[in-house]
Amino acid sequence: YDPKIKLDIRMINYADKHLLIIQDFSKLHHMEQVRQDFVANVSHELRTPLSVIVGYIETLDDDDQPELEAYAPIFHQMKQQSDRMTRLVEDLLTLSNLESEQSSNHQNEVPVPDMLKGIADDAIILSGSRNHDIKLAIDSDQWLLGNTRELHGVFSNLIANAVHYTPEEGTITIRWYQTANNAVMEVVDTGLGIEEQHIDRLTERFYRADKGRSRAEGGTGLGLAIVKHALQRHDAALKITSRVGKGSTFRCTFPIERVMDPPFTSDEETP
Ligand code: ADP
Repeated sequence: YDPKIKLDIRMINYADKHLLIIQDFSKLHHMEQVRQDFVANVSHELRTPLSVIVGYIETLDDDDQPELEAYAPIFHQMKQQSDRMTRLVEDLLTLSNLESEQSSNHQNEVPVPDMLKGIADDAIILSGSRNHDIKLAIDSDQWLLGNTRELHGVFSNLIANAVHYTPEEGTITIRWYQTANNAVMEVVDTGLGIEEQHIDRLTERFYRADKGRSRAEGGTGLGLAIVKHALQRHDAALKITSRVGKGSTFRCTFPIERVMDPPFTSDEETP
């Protein structure tokens, strides 16, 4: 058995005959592997020099150096642009890790209700003067069996998007509930909405329905691609529904096999 050889074997019936089709897609698989390694390597290479540059800018942009005050707008621009590149590099690395077959997929017990509360608090800070009404509707105390970092990435990406694409004073509702066969995490916003023709393509890398808004918000265009891959690794599905001018719903549906009762705490064991 050679792991480098990837075959697709199918049997079909054609004009009363059985046809065995063997397709060799080893080369295609190899090219995809080379592409993924390339992205991971480039991202690693960029990360170190970038963090050095950011460090220098932060030192120069220090309030204790009044003689450099005149340069403040320039430092501000440099900082913004390097932060943007850092986010892009981080997202590319996250995506290439999620795509890689070799990357670790450590599973643990994830306290979803507490995780959502934490992300909702971060969203209030992110919303800032836009003053969104951020509501938490936690109707289940269930946890998930999954990867903490990846699930945090999924939920925080969806909630940050709701903040970015919802005008001032809008409402963002974060829901966690259970149905007969699933656990569901849902983000509902009263934001800009998305035109029908974009919806199926939003999880493609760098696909943006509203380019101007995405750039203005500092978006990398990779958030939903990350969400899609991380959900796939949890056997979960993403459903997007939206109405232009009314708002959008992003729903993640997890299979019941991944849903678990929260572990007992020591207080509960001794009444
Ligand atoms: P970005 O960094 O551009 O936000 P994402 O992959 O997270 O990248 O999202 C892709 C695109 O989907 C966005 O550019 C935006 O056009 C659209 N989008 C995502 N979330 C929402 C939302 N809650 N409301 C409206 N549009 C959204």
